[in-house]
Amino acid sequence: MKVGILGGGQLARMIALAGYPLGLDFVIIDPSNVAGAIGLANHLHGAYDDKVLLQELAHQTDIVTYEFENVPASIAQFLAHHTQIAPCDQALAIAQDRLIEKKFFNDLNIPTTNFAAVNSLNDLEQASKTIGLPAILKSCRMGYDGKGQVPLQGPEDLASAWNSMRNAPSIIEGFVPHTREISIIAARRPTGETVYYPLSENSHSQGILRVSRCCIDDPKQQEAEQYLSRILEELDYVGVIALELFDVQGQLLANEFAPRVHNSGHWTIEGSETSQFENHLRAILDWPLGSTQSTGYSGMVNFIGGLPPSEHVLAIKNTHQHLYAKQPRPGRKVGHATVRANDHALFESSLEQLIQLAEQHRS
Ligand code: AMP
Repeated sequence: MKVGILGGGQLARMIALAGYPLGLDFVIIDPSNVAGAIGLANHLHGAYDDKVLLQELAHQTDIVTYEFENVPASIAQFLAHHTQIAPCDQALAIAQDRLIEKKFFNDLNIPTTNFAAVNSLNDLEQASKTIGLPAILKSCRMGYDGKGQVPLQGPEDLASAWNSMRNAPSIIEGFVPHTREISIIAARRPTGETVYYPLSENSHSQGILRVSRCCIDDPKQQEAEQYLSRILEELDYVGVIALELFDVQGQLLANEFAPRVHNSGHWTIEGSETSQFENHLRAILDWPLGSTQSTGYSGMVNFIGGLPPSEHVLAIKNTHQHLYAKQPRPGRKVGHATVRANDHALFESSLEQLIQLAEQHRS
């Protein structure tokens, strides 16, 4: 069988790497000639909205999925007329707009921080009084890795923050004094069969994920699963999904969801019986899902803006390296490594060494 993927970056690369043992082949659309999945898939070179290419992708494959959520809903709908797609275009449309997404959470009784729509400086001034400061102003669309976000400490920040949004529809969110950031990943197939991974605890720097740890037997696992199950059922969702949450001294607040495989689940390649990438493929093909059982302690460190020498990474005990075939640029994720160990002390020591090494090469 052949799977089409919109986007040919590292997520498509890891989906393809998980799919070959299952006997699958891949076709990608990507405007770049050097994207990470090239060489692992038949490459249709061009823009994501090129309808001739999209038809070709539909023609060459049995099902189409995507590695990023900013696929215009019109493209997903166009594809849906020509082939099977998963996840559904409704999931994309909600995840693309922070305001629609937060309302969607609240409609499902999934708690969030307080928020309000902002379409003018006057809106922002009024909303900052009801929401309170500190807060964060975010563009509703096209924000990721902390882009399109401005912290608001006091009333003096409002005018410049609104200016920087260039009139883009925005949302003000109350600042969440979280004790930790977590995410939960699940895979669901059309039959409704669903598997959940153990929570990830995530640390960010400058809005970019740096470290994720698998949390075995976390006390918030069940609550996070309940919230995610509401989203899955509401959307009759198919594929892998990630829900990002803030933990505020034991209270969970949803931040956003990603209708795709997720960076905070990269440790599942070695840290779970079945990786998120394999389970995404099994889910969209309506094949039985694999166990998400942990294989020990595991955690992942991103390589951002630069790569440590492989021999240094692999010299750290219990470490597995994954490079994305991308040119290093400041702030760009160019690879990651996972530590997986049965012994907790060994795991912590290796993870700490890996964090230090990645930090030395970060730009
Ligand atoms: P996002 O693009 O919404 O995932 O935001 C990127 C990062 O900014 C998050 O992972 C948090 O570390 C931080 N952040 C976003 N929204 C809030 C908030 N309302 N309160 C506190 N921190 C936030």
